[in-house]
Amino acid sequence: MADDVGTTTVQVAVRVRPLSEKEIKEGGVECVEVAKDNTVTLHQENQPPNVFAFDNVFGKDSTQPEVFEMLGNPLLDKAFEGYNATIFAYGQTGSGKTHTMMADRKSDDRGLVPRISDNLFQRVSKLSSETRKFLICCSFLEIYNEIVYDLLVPRGKNTPKTGLEIREGKGIGVYVKDLQEIVVDSSEKVLKLIDQGFEHRATAATQMNATSSRSHCLFIIKMHQKDEQNAGNNNFSKMNLVDLAGSERASRTGAQGDTLKEGANINKSLSALGNVINALSTMASGSKKVRENR
Ligand code: ADP
Ligand code: MG
Repeated sequence: MADDVGTTTVQVAVRVRPLSEKEIKEGGVECVEVAKDNTVTLHQENQPPNVFAFDNVFGKDSTQPEVFEMLGNPLLDKAFEGYNATIFAYGQTGSGKTHTMMADRKSDDRGLVPRISDNLFQRVSKLSSETRKFLICCSFLEIYNEIVYDLLVPRGKNTPKTGLEIREGKGIGVYVKDLQEIVVDSSEKVLKLIDQGFEHRATAATQMNATSSRSHCLFIIKMHQKDEQNAGNNNFSKMNLVDLAGSERASRTGAQGDTLKEGANINKSLSALGNVINALSTMASGSKKVRENR
């Protein structure tokens, strides 16, 4: 999680997922041990165990509500104070990024984004009054092969080949030109937008013969608060909720041609992201480094 630059704190959490049925059938055994002191011990054959420390650690039995409490709730606290905040899910394909961020949006197993949306509107309905108002809008985009696509509009022949432009504006920072921003007044509406975005993404992926694990996916919630009685509450904040492309290395997957190009773009963007997060966390703590578990 990263706050806006200036009051930056970066936290790194790790979540271990249970072995899948397939992995169990193939004789897979658990090699990751999670401890209460937020360390993870990696056991490998013929090697001494490796211990890694994180800000938060979620074991294989951790639940979606627990993850929300530890990561989603503080993010919302910050957003209501007027900070920008971001959550990235980073890991190999199959490691549980989409499960943690989204999962089945309507079930009890729903992930962080739907829970953040539910909780956001619960807070808004508690805090709203004649004199205190909230305006919330959402955007949903994906970055595939360095090209930005709006997930809230169907992709078709009118979609520019070069995708949407990333710009930087005075006072507003980095933004995507012409990206849809849909005003929402309930969590149901947010969930509908997510569903719509996933549909567009799946159709586009099929057309391009790609899979969603090869693109970065970003759900943005913007909130504008106005309080006539307390100017301290007048603020603007943005939550970026990111399901990154799989972090597996192209060289390891034996990729060629277009798939290799995709992999190169993913590696380039993830390594740039690693540099940014390292720089932010160095600014924040002077020394903390993001660990790369590849
Ligand atoms: P990724 O998005 O990183 O490629 P997924 O989120 O799709 O990975 O997870 C891969 C599979 O593992 C899915 O079938 C998902 O339901 C399952 N899975 C992931 N995390 C968990 C978890 N914490 N508990 C149970 N099943 C999980
Ligand atoms: Mg995924």
